[in-house]
Amino acid sequence: MAYDYDLFVIGAGSGGVRAARRAAEAGARVAVAEGDRVGGTCVIRGCIPKKLLVFASQFREAFEDSVSYGWALDEPVFDWPTLIANKDKEIARLEGVYRANLAKAGAELIESRARIAGPRRIDIERTGTLVSAERILVATGGRPNPHAALEGHEHCIVSNDVFDLKRLPEKIIIGGGGYIAVEFAGIFAGLGVDTTIVYRGRELLSRFDMDLRRLLSAEMENRGISVLCCEIFSRIEKLPSGRLRAHLMNGEVSEADQVLLAVGRVPNVEGFGLEQAKVALTKTGAIRVDDFSKTSADHIWAIGDVTDRVQLTPVAIHEAECFVATEFRNQPTRPDYQKVATAVFSQPEIGTVGMTEDAAREKFRNLDIYKTAFRPLRGTLTGRSDRMLMKLVVDADSDRVLGAHVLGPGAAEMAQLLAIPLKMNARKADFDAAMAVHPTAAEELVTFAAPTERVRDGETVVPEKVDRLAIFASSVPG
Ligand SMILES: Cc1cc2nc3c(=O)[nH]c(=O)nc-3n(C[C@H](O)[C@H](O)[C@H](O)COP(=O)(O)OP(=O)(O)OC[C@H]3O[C@@H](n4cnc5c(N)ncnc54)[C@H](O)[C@@H]3O)c2cc1C
Repeated sequence: MAYDYDLFVIGAGSGGVRAARRAAEAGARVAVAEGDRVGGTCVIRGCIPKKLLVFASQFREAFEDSVSYGWALDEPVFDWPTLIANKDKEIARLEGVYRANLAKAGAELIESRARIAGPRRIDIERTGTLVSAERILVATGGRPNPHAALEGHEHCIVSNDVFDLKRLPEKIIIGGGGYIAVEFAGIFAGLGVDTTIVYRGRELLSRFDMDLRRLLSAEMENRGISVLCCEIFSRIEKLPSGRLRAHLMNGEVSEADQVLLAVGRVPNVEGFGLEQAKVALTKTGAIRVDDFSKTSADHIWAIGDVTDRVQLTPVAIHEAECFVATEFRNQPTRPDYQKVATAVFSQPEIGTVGMTEDAAREKFRNLDIYKTAFRPLRGTLTGRSDRMLMKLVVDADSDRVLGAHVLGPGAAEMAQLLAIPLKMNARKADFDAAMAVHPTAAEELVTFAAPTERVRDGETVVPEKVDRLAIFASSVPG
């Protein structure tokens, strides 16, 4: 039977656009349906606008620091509407680039929500047209969890709303302790907003290395952000003035202009025929897929955040590439989730790749931990007490570097480059053999002389010369 398309992609976000383009380039007849703006979360309401806001929020410190470097400035003035208007212009430009790339590859863009209407049949909701496709790829992403169980959640905003706020709040309370919560905390605090984080866990950022988590909390507090861990909202009340009052489980209350809920994301699986198509979901409500991104239904695949494997743009893109290689280039390829480098654009920033120390301790009996915390050179003239952290987790038996963790300026850029030696299974000796680039912060990563901590047969041994507390109290590297 002849189908209208070889591939129909639902969702033109990071994963969907890449799959549509690559399949079309491989000669397939491809359509991609998008019910909102082309580019998806990353381009429209995620990575890109977020990073632009991070840049904006970093100027305050730069202005303040410049004085110690001899500059004299009038009091700088910040204008939120200008930032948002300029951000909007850039996002519109990027959306245009995504559209042009789809057209160039020969993939047809259908600007409508799409619904799976039967085996290999798709309903284009805007026109009511039914089309057929040999394969369907679901790349519908996710959305912020609205925390519907919280009384008064309807008064709160979620990450999507931040990018279109008409006014910058004077005070904000952020619920959550994941990367989105800490990134927005840094943005708002940097822009001069009185910022509080309320998080139910003991430490921010679960799944990251504990040293990064602890130092990040301390540094955020150092920048004036209140970090309230082991706390939960009991309800959010809207006051006649329009302000919000957040009630905490411990009985305390706090008022703010906005409450931002950043308490996780929900996969977009409802309302487009997945159930009727017998696409099975996981316990967390994401689409269940096999190693090749195939769902439980014949002829339907799924990639990206809707499958909740690793919720990152480069991972969605990688899954798209693997799907196209498998289905359209006859090269069966499983996505590789080993040593995915990642960053948190908190302030200070985090860059990390490979195993945390805790994860390594569960798997390896003998480890060498190399760790240093110091005041970066740039801060010496300004008197800032910010510390930077570098850490390597090494398998003492094989000398392989299992994990590399950085907190401080440039950490994300370092993580990208650290991903290369770690993917190549580099040994600590390979790091030692690399010449340092001086003066940089990153040179610490290739000049670690002795471990700060050893694990032997699962037991921690702190070398006598190293005072563990001093590691975090040290200033400029000697
Ligand atoms: C605030 C924030 C910051 C982030 N920062 C980073 C970062 O710094 N680095 C990073 O790597 N990742 C970041 N992410 C995560 C990243 O954005 C996602 O992992 C990525 O966008 C997932 O791509 P996707 O293709 O799975 O889905 P999406 O990009 O979400 O695209 C899904 C698309 O499907 C469309 N859609 C849904 N249902 C239908 C339907 N029935 N019919 C038609 N269209 C439909 C949606 O409108 C959407 O456009 C961030 C996310 C957020 C929210």
